Amino acid sequence: MQISGKTKVCGIIGDPIEHTLSPVIHNAGFSHLKLDFVYVPFTVKAHDLKEAMNAFNGLGIHGLNVTMPHKTAVLDFLTETDPPARSLGAVNTILNHDGKSVGFNTDGVGAINALRAGGVDLKGKKLLLLGAGGAARAIAFCAAQEVEKITILNRTADKAEKLAKDLQMRFGSRIKADSLLPSAISRELKDADLLVNATSMGMHPCAGRSPVDAKLLRSDLCVMDIVYDPVETKLVSDAKSAGANVLNGLEMLVNQAAVSFEIWTNQRAPITIMKEAALRKLDPKRCIL
Ligand code: NAP
Repeated sequence: MQISGKTKVCGIIGDPIEHTLSPVIHNAGFSHLKLDFVYVPFTVKAHDLKEAMNAFNGLGIHGLNVTMPHKTAVLDFLTETDPPARSLGAVNTILNHDGKSVGFNTDGVGAINALRAGGVDLKGKKLLLLGAGGAARAIAFCAAQEVEKITILNRTADKAEKLAKDLQMRFGSRIKADSLLPSAISRELKDADLLVNATSMGMHPCAGRSPVDAKLLRSDLCVMDIVYDPVETKLVSDAKSAGANVLNGLEMLVNQAAVSFEIWTNQRAPITIMKEAALRKLDPKRCIL
């Protein structure tokens, strides 16, 4: 990589940021396409967000990814936010467009693109979505445009109900919510076509746990676990054993990165190259492929 006076700088802001895979994914894409871009991580504490966004404008940084804890707070510092990100209330990508900071959210579309790439047609299907946090919210808003029905189950039932209400206002009454209890999972999985785990259960350092009893998984289900550390979560492994169509969290990670990449570069993202770079970086002991 040759840094020149014309190199466009992209990066990620968050706290903590040390373990992010995004620099590896994006720099692999830039270098594959021989683009004069570089991607760097910036640790930004919650109380420093305003200064960081001033620096984004002042330094003429070309693009940013935004991660915890800034995804919602950053909206206050943007010139424009695209409508889907505004209705989600969360931004994970910023483009510096002629001095204006424009916010987007690529998590939901990244998940849907990953499902499509895995051969999943969402039309007329029932989605069982576990979780009601930021990622679940982004996925639910995108999926609701295509699937027939959604049931959201969350440990904190109030959050599932709030998400269902927000979705019902836009998409009607095809959305239900309940607690993330074994009885509800068993009941709702019976007629589901698609199961998405958007909770952090199964994530390092609590790998080895799954939100779903392995006995409930079937070969006619599509199962996506958005947890990517480890890549092979217990849910992914159980779903493979059941013969299901399985997508791991790396697929969504790379697909949401690809949408950000395309916003910044106007070039088609080399997804395979970006995914291979992420796989090389992941701890092999935590990634059984
Ligand atoms: P978040 O906003 O903090 O939400 C966390 C969700 O997980 C909530 O629904 C929470 O339930 C649930 N949860 C946490 N611990 C749990 C447990 N022990 N049992 C049951 N439910 C539990 O986080 P997020 O941004 O949505 O991220 C969720 C997961 O997705 C993380 O593992 C993250 O790394 C992953 N992720 C992956 C991608 C990707 O591209 N692959 C993108 C974004 C996020 P409560 O509401 O009850 O607390």
